[in-house]
Amino acid sequence: MAEPLLAINNMSSGYGDFQALFGVNLSVPEKSILGLVGANGAGKSTLFKAILGLLPRERDMVMFRGQPIGDLTPERLPKIGIVMVPEGRRLFRSLSVEENLRIAADHGRRGEWTIDRVFELFPILGERRNQAATQLSGGQQQMVAIGRALVANPAVILFDEISLGLAPVVVNDVYAALPAIVDSGISAVLVEQDVDRVRKLAGSLVCMREGRVVLSGPADAFSKAELIAAYFGE
Ligand code: ATP
Repeated sequence: MAEPLLAINNMSSGYGDFQALFGVNLSVPEKSILGLVGANGAGKSTLFKAILGLLPRERDMVMFRGQPIGDLTPERLPKIGIVMVPEGRRLFRSLSVEENLRIAADHGRRGEWTIDRVFELFPILGERRNQAATQLSGGQQQMVAIGRALVANPAVILFDEISLGLAPVVVNDVYAALPAIVDSGISAVLVEQDVDRVRKLAGSLVCMREGRVVLSGPADAFSKAELIAAYFGE
């Protein structure tokens, strides 16, 4: 089997004395989508934070292209090709669309994803390039957050609930960009509450519960009922 792009090995982490992850294993293949599902509090966001180095982890708990990288600081990760689209978007609110993208581009890697290419993917952002992030709708802000990840020219993007708080039609617009992103050679780890949507998009699935992986495999290997049972622990 080909070496995974990103592999998480026996990841345990948490917040001070509170352990939130217990020996999590998963692997993200090249150029594909891994769907990560689980109920509120299952540990999905915590896993992302631990991968990025925002929470304690050990060197060999995070392997990237076969190399241990769990000792890198959060600032280093965009440079090697790992970025996150965080829950809640976290834009620089008073800066313009273009300025938000420029900062991310300066902290990432050079490559085919330029600011102009992001404007091709999301034309509305090109039209609003000089407007402050606060003046955008929620969906447009989410597009900026995705654009910010893209201009770093990553190998993998960790998407944390990008549909949160958006109207269904807007969610469709945001998700419509995903195939073009993966086609450009980027892998995605997708945390999403809508299990049906994840099943359609992802090549493989991982379900977490109470800080542990309770199910993982190819997305078409599980019935919806099996997935729901793993999700709720029935
Ligand atoms: P959600 O969909 O609610 O984001 P999640 O699967 O991402 O769920 P996490 O946010 O990773 O879950 O939470 C995992 C566990 O860690 C929960 O028990 C949660 O209460 C705890 N936790 C999360 N953030 C913190 C924090 N900053 N300090 C202490 N405990 C936290």
